[in-house]
Amino acid sequence: MTAPHTSSSEPAYNTPSADLELVACPHCDLVQRLPALAPGEAARCPRCDKELWRRREDSLERTQALTLAAAILYVVANTVPMLGLSAVGHHASTTLYGGARHLWETGQEVVAVLVLFTAVVAPALQIGFLLAVVLAARRPRPAHWVATLLRHQPKTATWSMIEVMILGVLVALIKIADYASVIAGLALFALGGLVVLLAVMQAAFDPREVWIRVAWADEAARAATAPDAALEATP
Ligand SMILES: [Zn+2]
Repeated sequence: MTAPHTSSSEPAYNTPSADLELVACPHCDLVQRLPALAPGEAARCPRCDKELWRRREDSLERTQALTLAAAILYVVANTVPMLGLSAVGHHASTTLYGGARHLWETGQEVVAVLVLFTAVVAPALQIGFLLAVVLAARRPRPAHWVATLLRHQPKTATWSMIEVMILGVLVALIKIADYASVIAGLALFALGGLVVLLAVMQAAFDPREVWIRVAWADEAARAATAPDAALEATP
């Protein structure tokens, strides 16, 4: 099915519902109206009991603080040595990136790319996207690109798997502990802290708070749907 186009250059949009509190349950598709919630309260689907929305306390402020802390830990985790090994008088240490590069050089290209993507690139995108969203959402009228970042942010969180990498490193450490003395670097502790911070940061974030503020792609639809909101937004 193709959407009708008003002109060749203008994209066509769906007609929005006049009731902005109307939501469809992501599990069973039941369309229902969200009640007004106080911070800490949650709304559940009456049919399948799935939690539809939990209103978090000071979501934007808390997420911003946690995201900034995560960004600092991320920089530390990627700049200082993660592991040191010393055996028969030789000492070697490596960073997270250095480990991935070593994998590449020893012929494990696929593993190297996976490690680099899930432990370096995806966490950076997860933190970067969320920080940009939270900072932009605090402005009176967040730009439309905030919506794009907000849509893709959950995917970056799915691919961010620092905890899996730490588990792998710990198993390897136990295995080689008999042959060489292993020194856990500062980055390993930073990564451990980062795993906890990323989970707390994601839990503190309430996407609905941002969605309410985002500027619509089709401004005419917004004006037709919520005249109060449109008036409020124009100073
Ligand atoms: Zn449901």
